[in-house]
Amino acid sequence: MKPLMSLDDVFLRIQSWLDRLVRRLRLGRAPARGRKRLLIVQIDGLSRAVLERALAQGRMPFLRRLIERGGHRLVPMSVGLPTSTPAFQMAAMYGVRPDIPGFHYHDKRRRSDVYFPRAGDAAWVEEHQAAGRRGIVAGGSTYGCVFTGGAVNNLFSFAMLKRPTGAGLAQTAASAVVLFWVIVKSTVVSAIAIGRALLSFVADPLEAPRGWKLLAIKVGVSVWVRELFTLSASRDLYNGVPAVYLNYLDYDIISHAYGPRDRRALRALRSLDRSIQQLMRTARRVPECGYDVYVLSDHGQAHCIPFDRLTGGRRIERMLFEDFLNPAGAHEVGPTRPQGRRVAAGIKAIRTGRAPGAIQRFMNYLEDDFPWLLGELKEAREQGSVRVIAAGPNAFVYFLDHTEPLDLDAIEARFPGLPDELSRTQGIGLVLVRTAAGPVCFWRGKRYRMEELGEGPFAGRADLALVAEGIGDLMAMPSAGDLVLYGLEAAAGHVSYVAEIGAHAGPTADEMQAFVVTPPHVTLPEPLTHPLELYPEFARYQEAA
Ligand SMILES: [Zn+2]
Repeated sequence: MKPLMSLDDVFLRIQSWLDRLVRRLRLGRAPARGRKRLLIVQIDGLSRAVLERALAQGRMPFLRRLIERGGHRLVPMSVGLPTSTPAFQMAAMYGVRPDIPGFHYHDKRRRSDVYFPRAGDAAWVEEHQAAGRRGIVAGGSTYGCVFTGGAVNNLFSFAMLKRPTGAGLAQTAASAVVLFWVIVKSTVVSAIAIGRALLSFVADPLEAPRGWKLLAIKVGVSVWVRELFTLSASRDLYNGVPAVYLNYLDYDIISHAYGPRDRRALRALRSLDRSIQQLMRTARRVPECGYDVYVLSDHGQAHCIPFDRLTGGRRIERMLFEDFLNPAGAHEVGPTRPQGRRVAAGIKAIRTGRAPGAIQRFMNYLEDDFPWLLGELKEAREQGSVRVIAAGPNAFVYFLDHTEPLDLDAIEARFPGLPDELSRTQGIGLVLVRTAAGPVCFWRGKRYRMEELGEGPFAGRADLALVAEGIGDLMAMPSAGDLVLYGLEAAAGHVSYVAEIGAHAGPTADEMQAFVVTPPHVTLPEPLTHPLELYPEFARYQEAA
């Protein structure tokens, strides 16, 4: 351990020398003095609870020092629903209430899915929902964000996947010295990580397959991408770029794989802390630029069981069609479900059960593991005029024969008792449906209005009003499913509908309760109850431009 630490010290010393050199070589005209500039450092997926634990355990010593002695303040923030990066960034960057019910959803009016990792989707959403407003990063840079927020330089941002980061790449390439250093440093750190992993695999060969996955994440995201982001952003600061929004993804990615409180996820926080320290040091070296540095998170994560582990491999999309959803127009084949269930939908509809066994099994396998071969997106399935999308701990059911969202009566007319039945099903927690009098939540066979949530799934929550408000906002989104299912608060514990241990999009306390660490002399409204409230604070840096 010891020699590695000292190696890191050497890195840091060379780093600070390099920083000064880059500053002396500063390109372009010197930045205007006298105005304030914005640096947002987002730690994706870090709940306030886990942050507080990490601070108490000494895993983020620099951030702790900032809060305890540096005049920075840790401000609680509830982020509304869904607890998902695109919804958060749309609200914070543009101050608009987003129609973004999840990371993957269907837009019935446009008759297509929005799936953020797919090239073009984030850009389309940003163009249509930002409504011509000025983004908080206008004229600046984003790193690892979903949207551009008006930035001219975007590196690894979903909205720029299709037109890859024109200015972003050029700028990065221009700073050859920074890039060179990223390569040298990352190569060495990668080599160390690989060496360590090999030693641990020798010690514990059974862990090796999982270990390789972690290693890939560590080397790819935690080393290369984090270094690239940190150094590129440092260069922005030296150049006096008016606004920089940086999203560190390491913790979120590792938490998805192992859970939000897993030691491997917590360990990522230490290197993030070092990156924050480096950015802060850079900002201090250019006091004339007047950078205000905010550290925030967009949501937390809930520890889940993957749905298919409960069901012996059957995915939720398949289960919903096989057990509940008889495609419109198809005749009922007769119930094969346990007796006592009222939804006697035709179970063997469509492909299922009609084809000879072996072929059917092969089709099922293709549908589950290689959906794109059948022209389908991952975790989505459509039969008849019903589309199901599994997006995380949430799944959406859309009835496509109707462009506007269907309410409870209309759903019951098609499938009597469906929401109630679903809410009693293994692996399903909350079932949300619209009614004329606002949304209702079915939970374990009982129906709750928003003002009754405290008697049901959210008993004991101090932020009950925010949960109800979040559900209200979510179900007011035209693109939220006619049925919105959450695996959270299921009888078996929290459940996710995709292959992950850490999940988010839902209303559990850890998911909703995030934070902002504010710079000295900045006062935000407290408590923050929605990312919309960040917009006017961050937009102020634009007005000064
Ligand atoms: Zn995530």
